[in-house]
Amino acid sequence: MYLVELRDLGRSFTLGGETVEALSGINLEIKRGEFVALVGASGSGKSTLMNILGCLDAPTAGTSLLAGQDVSALGQDALAELRRRHFGFVFQRYHLLNSLSAVSNVEVPAIYNGVSKSRRQARARRLLTQLGLEDRLHHRPMEMSGGQQQRVSIARALMNGGEIILADEPTGSLDSKSEAIVLDHLKTLHVEGHTIVMVTHDMGVARHADRIVEINDGQIVSDRRNVATVAPPLRGLVDLAEKAGFLTSFLRRTSEAARIAFRSIAAHWLRSALTLLGIVVGIMSVIAVVGLGEGGQAIVLDQIKSFGANSINIFPGTGWDDRNRGNVDTLTPDDAAALAEQSYIDSVSPLAWDTGQLMFESRTVDGVIRGVSNAYFDIAQLPLTQGNRFTGGENRALQEAIIDNSTRRTFFGNSRSPIGEILVVKGVPLVIVGAIGELGGSLGQDERPQVFIPHISMMSRISGSQWLPEIVVRISESVGTDVGEKAVIAFLEKRHGARDFFTSNSDRIRRSIEKTSRTLSMLLVSVGAVTLLVGGIGVMNIMLVSITERTNEIGLRMAVGARTSDIMLQFLIETLAITIMGGCAGVALAFGLGALTHSIGTPIPMVISLHAVSIGCVMAVVVGAVFGFFPAKKAARLKPIEALSRD
Ligand code: ADP
Ligand code: MG
Repeated sequence: MYLVELRDLGRSFTLGGETVEALSGINLEIKRGEFVALVGASGSGKSTLMNILGCLDAPTAGTSLLAGQDVSALGQDALAELRRRHFGFVFQRYHLLNSLSAVSNVEVPAIYNGVSKSRRQARARRLLTQLGLEDRLHHRPMEMSGGQQQRVSIARALMNGGEIILADEPTGSLDSKSEAIVLDHLKTLHVEGHTIVMVTHDMGVARHADRIVEINDGQIVSDRRNVATVAPPLRGLVDLAEKAGFLTSFLRRTSEAARIAFRSIAAHWLRSALTLLGIVVGIMSVIAVVGLGEGGQAIVLDQIKSFGANSINIFPGTGWDDRNRGNVDTLTPDDAAALAEQSYIDSVSPLAWDTGQLMFESRTVDGVIRGVSNAYFDIAQLPLTQGNRFTGGENRALQEAIIDNSTRRTFFGNSRSPIGEILVVKGVPLVIVGAIGELGGSLGQDERPQVFIPHISMMSRISGSQWLPEIVVRISESVGTDVGEKAVIAFLEKRHGARDFFTSNSDRIRRSIEKTSRTLSMLLVSVGAVTLLVGGIGVMNIMLVSITERTNEIGLRMAVGARTSDIMLQFLIETLAITIMGGCAGVALAFGLGALTHSIGTPIPMVISLHAVSIGCVMAVVVGAVFGFFPAKKAARLKPIEALSRD
């Protein structure tokens, strides 16, 4: 059986509507162990034929058999496997990767075979040493002569065994001395049993082969033997393909792809850093915004709590926009008492307020005075921390007071108990019977000390008015705030004979605050998302540039056997690495920003929670995957031969 067999093979190129027949009616058989030279003038079709032989290109007519197997039916990855296992390529322009040392360049084909790093390196060193390059192992291509570079590329061709070596004008760029060395090496390989196909336009070079096939205008015009004997088939050809399991092989290839990706990022560190910036800002703003949202939420919840659950506030007048509101007198303590009788009501408290001087012993401060009933402390959720509520319930003008924490601190410090002491409020002496804690929410926004007294005392001893500026009501749990509000309105309207009051509903306020804060955080999150989108597009852009710059490298990797998935992985990991690094920097900066807002005390604290951080990290990965996919796909779709020959 022939190693290679071409039957009626043709290859045409269509360029701008014009079809060029690069090859036609090619019939050729090559036996195992032959050394064949393909000779012909420039443009005669030698390279095209060589590329088809090496499964880098497909014929447009006829069949190509490799060891009896028709390769025209094979897919990209199967072809890649053939190249990886059976072929070694040597190109006129070497196609070494400039950023890699000689050893690393030679290793490349074995990476895609899943060979471990130590075995790869050992073999690469041995091959380079055999080719007389033992003192150039760690040189980069740029630091070597053309002849040395070509020997590195021969070593690379042998890396996976190099059963069939395809050399396209291997000496075309070399001086005569280097040419002789390279030809010597090829002859040695032939003697060792490798099958060699060498393309040249130089009859002097072709003479070194055993068989010379001449091509003219895409057709074989002569096929003659130089030497009668064919070297014995190669024995003990190295099959370097370790029988590594799929997973081991995949992990090795992935870690190699990651190594390549990081090297590429490091090689263009400034460009990478600038690209990173977009992601850093994007992730930081998303986390900061989520953090602000959570900080804001805490404040809102606190505010809502101070309204009390299920509560309704009743005011005199027609609404907040009633200009005369301050002078309207319609609500009385009797209204409050009558409401308290209703079945749908849980509790009721009048609420009157005033400001004035509070005096204890010789100290005087400005304070807020609120006239309430005992029920108020339930409705507003203000539990006593010390003492008791008013002793006489709602209906007597008792000279009693309950003080807030600020009042207690102002007059009694931390050690002295206020209970039983006499506090003079606007000239009226009152006994302190109880104390409540810190006032939160809207009550707490007034920083002055606050004192709560029975509303009857307030009206008779301090304000002197029999009208109430507000009544607070808590609706029964079982009724619900909205229904309860309607019932309260109906009841009072009937009682007064007019709608001379208006209400506000804690649920409605809460709903509207929640809606506003939801809208606000949606808005902020979309700003963050847009920033991230812009950052992602920046990353994608840079990846596309990078792929264009590295088209030759991609072509070379594919030629030596990289699968489409290897190429995809390499670029996907590169994108992910950029976005994840950006994400980490973004998280760190967001923490910094959070600490800063805490230290300068912004109105809304930024709460950088685990929740926010995980959102940021997930975003970084998603952006990397989404914006990396298209460039990676584009790279993986390149045709090896086109990518190799692109300038
Ligand atoms: P050689 O290697 O013998 O110099 P080639 O095989 O490179 O010749 O080219 C043979 C012919 O095919 C030439 O006419 C060339 O212009 C044409 N050709 C080769 N590759 C392409 C291509 N990718 N697209 C269009 N025409 C091509
Ligand atoms: Mg050529």
